[in-house]
Amino acid sequence: MSPEFIKEALRNVRYPGFSRDIVSFGLVKDIRHENGILTVRLEIATKDPKIPEQIFKDCHAILDPLPDVGTVKVEIDVKEPQGGATAGEVAGKSSIPGVKRVIAIASGKGGVGKSTVAANLAVALAKSGAKVGLCDCDLYGPSVAQMFGSHDRPMANENDEIIPVEAHGLKLMSMGFLLEDRSPVIVRGPMATRYTQQFLRQVAWGNLDYLVLDLPPGTGDIQLTIVQTVAVDGAVIVTTPQEMALIDARKAVAMFAKVNVPILGLIENMAWFDCDHGQRYFLFGEGGGVREAAAMNVPLLARIPIDPQTRERGDAGTPVALIPPAEHPVSAAFRDVAAALRTKVPS
Ligand code: ADP
Repeated sequence: MSPEFIKEALRNVRYPGFSRDIVSFGLVKDIRHENGILTVRLEIATKDPKIPEQIFKDCHAILDPLPDVGTVKVEIDVKEPQGGATAGEVAGKSSIPGVKRVIAIASGKGGVGKSTVAANLAVALAKSGAKVGLCDCDLYGPSVAQMFGSHDRPMANENDEIIPVEAHGLKLMSMGFLLEDRSPVIVRGPMATRYTQQFLRQVAWGNLDYLVLDLPPGTGDIQLTIVQTVAVDGAVIVTTPQEMALIDARKAVAMFAKVNVPILGLIENMAWFDCDHGQRYFLFGEGGGVREAAAMNVPLLARIPIDPQTRERGDAGTPVALIPPAEHPVSAAFRDVAAALRTKVPS
């Protein structure tokens, strides 16, 4: 079996979090097939032990079933990334300079509260002591500007990068800041993709522990472009308990699996409504998110009720997560999600 053949086979192994494969990243350093033993040597620079583990498993999954290979040995040299570079940068992929971790907030369907979750999660992460940025990637319905009550227009620096707006201790960037009025931007297809890419690359984020990406709803080209342009460390899927939303949440999970972005968990939003008389109503059905998380084998990070204050504070530009958690259950829920994410993707 020729090394070229093995190399071709290894093109099916993707670098976790990227759509690119380990061969094109230049990680495969040596391939030998001698005396019935196939030895593949890889070199990876990463601080994340899960990356070599995953690549090891994926290499075996591809190589073991090949006919006539005999014993397969995958050897991985793990090196310390240089100069604080992330795995993605060392592997030759575009990370955002200065940004340690990127977490994408996604939903298959619009209107389920994805932006509300992204905004509150960003606030909760910042309150936990992290340096946080929030980027609203939705060209068609930007909402971060509204949710942070920020109508400052971002300036450019001397390198022609956009300086993010700051509010409530977070760095914010949104298409909303760049629009003249409230009319939707009319960009379609490839142009939208290019626009989004440029948008993500040209923001001077500075040093951040976490950049939260509020993805546009859906699982189309724009979403794929974003998760392939940037080294996304993990995705949080937001859904309501309603079957219609769950179907689309499943699609979102499948999309991230395709590009090897780990799913950090599911958030069931609008899970119920507690009326003033103590009655609980499951307006969108009961427990859909809980069942779906179990069925898809992803963690359920939170169940957030329908809460008038969450909506009001979103509209007023002061996200509910700014309230001390002891005084508001939704703020407490976001504090807990932030804590869980900090453990799953430590900065
Ligand atoms: P998406 O980003 O999925 O389109 P939004 O975050 O814009 O959704 O939320 C849609 C609407 O629902 C907004 O008016 C928002 O204030 C409201 N909303 C979201 N989550 C909740 C919640 N848990 N309780 C009350 N209102 C909510």
